Amino acid sequence: MIDLNSIIRPNIRQLKPYSSARDEFSGTEGIFLDANENPFGTLNRYPDPYQQELKAQIADLKGLNTDSIFIGNGSDEVIDLVFRICCEPGKDKALTFTPTYGMYEVAANINNAELIHIPLDDQFQIDLKTVQPYLSDPKLKLILICSPNNPTGNLMEREKIEYILANFEGLVLVDEAYVDFADEESLIGLLSKYNNLIVSQTFSKAWGLAAARVGTAYASQEMIGWFNKVKPPYNVSTPNQQAVLNALKNYKEYSKQVEMIRQEKEQLINALGKIASVKRIYPSDANFILLEVDDANALYAVLSEQKIIVRNRNTVIPNGIRISIGTPEENNLLINTLTQIA
Ligand code: PMP
Repeated sequence: MIDLNSIIRPNIRQLKPYSSARDEFSGTEGIFLDANENPFGTLNRYPDPYQQELKAQIADLKGLNTDSIFIGNGSDEVIDLVFRICCEPGKDKALTFTPTYGMYEVAANINNAELIHIPLDDQFQIDLKTVQPYLSDPKLKLILICSPNNPTGNLMEREKIEYILANFEGLVLVDEAYVDFADEESLIGLLSKYNNLIVSQTFSKAWGLAAARVGTAYASQEMIGWFNKVKPPYNVSTPNQQAVLNALKNYKEYSKQVEMIRQEKEQLINALGKIASVKRIYPSDANFILLEVDDANALYAVLSEQKIIVRNRNTVIPNGIRISIGTPEENNLLINTLTQIA
């Protein structure tokens, strides 16, 4: 266990958080004349700032206490907040393993924190030798690990993440946006062992709620307290909280969809293996597949002309194309088009 206080920026430690009307009175009965709301309408009231009803449902689902849960406006908000909490602008550093999710770099730049890029090995795994020298740097406050990784699709080896957690006196954010599609379990089971671990997840991918912008962070009660201190008062809207509550009621439907996406992925991998221009299909624990093709720029252009939009990742992985798993019809169309243009 590490001393979390020593990682929190001094100004955040001293911050007096905004006290909203709903912080000062949290009952539901009465005439509410305290938040300068409009008395008319259906969306006229501010949302619950701590999303208690939603947290209770998520706590049940994940087997956690509600005070180990933070809910953000997408998990992108979690990434930004974690920088704000621990990285002193212009002084502190963060580290990540590349290629990875581009928002880590953007969040680092917004917060004026240097981001150290450590290349993943040829299997897109962490090479502990390359990260070891950085672990003792007192300015390094945050390590971001994406697992399953975007854009490569693979899970990071769990033992290596545990090694980093055990040997680093800073925060480790494990971004599990795609974990519901993976064969292995989430790292939330390690939260009681490592108080420097923050696991982020999202309702945007497996739950099909990207438009609702709801992401989560799971961490120690103390760490969640820092998130709550720094977040905007009403960061998740009432309709968005409700969208997730509705989805949670349809858990069966959601798991059927995840299973269908996993099966479609296997079929797509088989079919892609027969296309001449596809040179390599990387293993995927996510809802997308990374391919190495003959000529990514050319393929991207031809597919776009046919109104099939994939992600050209050529700038980060030579001739890399990332394909999200669509509906069976969309996937068939993709394969037919690729077969014709090959
Ligand atoms: N993490 C990863 C790895 C992602 O790929 C994404 C979205 N593309 C996010 C986080 C952000 O997801 P959201 O803000 O929708 O929760």
